[in-house]
Amino acid sequence: ELSKRLERVKQMIPDDISCVADIGSDHAYLPCKVCLDHPDVKAIAGEVNEGPYFAAVKQVEAMELSNRIDVRLGDGLNVLLPGEVDCVTIAGMGGTLITNILKNGINKLTEVKALVLQPNIDASSIREFAVEQQYEIASEDVIEEDGYIYEIVVLEPTDVVISYSSKEIYLGPIMLQSKNEAFYKKWRHVFDKKQSIITQMKQASEPNYEKINQFEQQLMWIKEEVF
Ligand code: SAM
Repeated sequence: ELSKRLERVKQMIPDDISCVADIGSDHAYLPCKVCLDHPDVKAIAGEVNEGPYFAAVKQVEAMELSNRIDVRLGDGLNVLLPGEVDCVTIAGMGGTLITNILKNGINKLTEVKALVLQPNIDASSIREFAVEQQYEIASEDVIEEDGYIYEIVVLEPTDVVISYSSKEIYLGPIMLQSKNEAFYKKWRHVFDKKQSIITQMKQASEPNYEKINQFEQQLMWIKEEVF
């Protein structure tokens, strides 16, 4: 049984993929479940740390999936050959780390049809990456599990010139069209937190007005969309 979070990540992988790489796979729970659900799919589980790498090797052996899942030790997309996979999943890390992993291995993504990403924080950096690298935001979701709220963003390569407003980058263009309870909860929480941070920042001896303005802009967007 996958966690609700990883189950949702799995559901958001498009149907027509044949080889998926899960980077930062830890126990390889996600690629194992993907392969069990889809008998024709193969997977690569990448891990940079030995502990999680061996946990992944063990799990794949226990599930008798060693013939379909290759567990590889290495940093980010370094474990892949160019064009080897048509889908990449990266879950449970910060958005900035996820985008750095993607940028550092961009030449490995030539055949990729979808990037299914679950940033724990800073989902906006994923959306900025999308604009810079010619991906469209194909789907998004916000879910809650055990009191934590998670955003999932799916990117697909596109030839069309795409652009998103700053508000869409911040809140998610798809989520803005399909707000759910977890979305409202997340952004109400961020609103309260940001408001008290702004109050503190204004009390500083030399307030950083640039940052304060940026935060106030974000508060405005949340107000427009959430309250
Ligand atoms: N993806 C799993 C999940 O969502 O439950 C595990 C998330 S765990 C919090 C993050 C994992 O990413 C750790 O096992 C860590 O070793 C791995 N990791 C961190 N940076 C990495 C990198 N540059 N390349 C590969 N794996 C990395």
